Amino acid sequence: MKLVLPADISAEAFGAFLTECRAIVGKDNVLSDDTDRDAYRDGYAITGDDTHVPSAAVAPSNAQEVQAVVRAANKRKVPLWPISRGRNLTYGGSAPHLSGSVVLDLSRMKRIVEVDADLGYAVVEPGVGFFDLYNHLKDKGFPLWMSCPEHGWGSVLGNALDRGIGRTPIGDHSRNLCGIEAVLADGSMVRTGMGAMSKNRAAHTYQAGFGPHWDQMLTQSGLGIVTQAGVWLMQPSPSTTTLSISTDKDDDLEPFIEMLTGLVRRGLIDQYFSITNVFVIAAIIGDRTRWYQGDGAMPEDAIAKMMADLHLGRWMTEITLYGEPSINAAKEKLIAEAFAEHPSIALKRREWKAGEPPEMSGMSVPNVAALQWVNWYGGRGGHMDFSPILPSRPKEVAAHIRRTEQMHKDAGHDFVCAVHIKERHSIAINALIFDRDDAAITGRVKTLFGALIDDAAQNGYGEYRTHLDWMDKVAAKYDFGDNAMMRLNERVKDALDPNGIIAPGKSGIWPARFRGREAGQ
Ligand code: ADP
Repeated sequence: MKLVLPADISAEAFGAFLTECRAIVGKDNVLSDDTDRDAYRDGYAITGDDTHVPSAAVAPSNAQEVQAVVRAANKRKVPLWPISRGRNLTYGGSAPHLSGSVVLDLSRMKRIVEVDADLGYAVVEPGVGFFDLYNHLKDKGFPLWMSCPEHGWGSVLGNALDRGIGRTPIGDHSRNLCGIEAVLADGSMVRTGMGAMSKNRAAHTYQAGFGPHWDQMLTQSGLGIVTQAGVWLMQPSPSTTTLSISTDKDDDLEPFIEMLTGLVRRGLIDQYFSITNVFVIAAIIGDRTRWYQGDGAMPEDAIAKMMADLHLGRWMTEITLYGEPSINAAKEKLIAEAFAEHPSIALKRREWKAGEPPEMSGMSVPNVAALQWVNWYGGRGGHMDFSPILPSRPKEVAAHIRRTEQMHKDAGHDFVCAVHIKERHSIAINALIFDRDDAAITGRVKTLFGALIDDAAQNGYGEYRTHLDWMDKVAAKYDFGDNAMMRLNERVKDALDPNGIIAPGKSGIWPARFRGREAGQ
């Protein structure tokens, strides 16, 4: 990929910055040729799309090097795009929003600074992957369990900083952050929460600290570069049972949601879990051509054949009960009673070995099997997830799902749907899978994605996370008070980062320097 720079950065200033970086991190850790630039682009970028192109990548090995790189960038106004491992592929991977930004790759920072088994936390650097932490806990005999996202190849911090989700009781990953160390745009370092006091002994045990709570201000914000953070983990469960619940009847969707929401409200399910449709699992297992080779969305008869061949229901969920055996048994009985009222809904149970975490993706053991779903349309696969937040009112959630399903059908695209249900909110995720080299598919995905955002906003919903391509559009939908939230974000951004060097465009927040050029070029 050829070099592209922001319009106000000269080739000389950029060259001088890279020379400084070589002195800071070593020449092998400054990656700036055409191949390097290509390697840091969005791995699921739609072909022909030359947005979000990095100018180089710089990979420091510790927080002091991060500070020195940031100071050099601030001096020359070079925008940086921090990543931990750059693996949140559906949202843009390692690519920056603004073309010409330098990717600040923190994947070499792999220290696990501390683990406290009694208090249940670890302190890690950004490069620590889920597999790294899992192996560390296992090898050192720490009995703690983690919460991993469905695609477990990313980093613990990068995922939490972008508000990733796992299917565990601690599945809202940004909420497990406690005590962050971050470098600000002027190169200074700050510690949040109790860690703001030198030698504080409770730095990773109480989240808010004294005064404003900054941990969450560093998620999805581009206000600082996180160099380490405390992450809360789970104590091991003495007994763990998974209930697999499914129905073959499409019409059961609403009662299914209703029952599950009721069980959550009664306190019988305390993990994050999702209801998925048959396409989610079928796509992980194989590609669609086995059941349908025609144009448009897969028709009902092919779906029925697919369900029969794969022994899958139309809608499914897996609920895992954690805790003392007697309490789990009581919960299981109440859950089974609730489902017994609906004979078309089948329930199967599986008990895991005492004290061992369930080996299922998106839970406590990292797993990458689900990544295979990108092969659904064949070719060089990719996916882009649409993730609106809805209130957990069963009728409303079901109505939203039916509307978005119809939009998929009208667009001729298969409806891959997973709905996370919590007590008060649900996230109705649609994975829009595509073959990157099929212009017809990528074209309709682009149109459909934009229409889904518009439709959600018209119905009163916004997204909690999105791909680089859609950050500006999604942010613009948060329009109360003539976009008062964005103006507040911009004022904070400009105060902390007057040269606009950290993650310009992250979550649609553009520093003054680039404002009004939201296309990012
Ligand atoms: P992962 O590899 O764990 O999936 P990424 O490294 O892709 O996660 O990070 C996801 C997003 O979170 C990035 O695009 C970036 O916006 C933000 N991010 C990641 N790491 C940091 C960090 N250390 N400091 C600030 N923001 C970060």
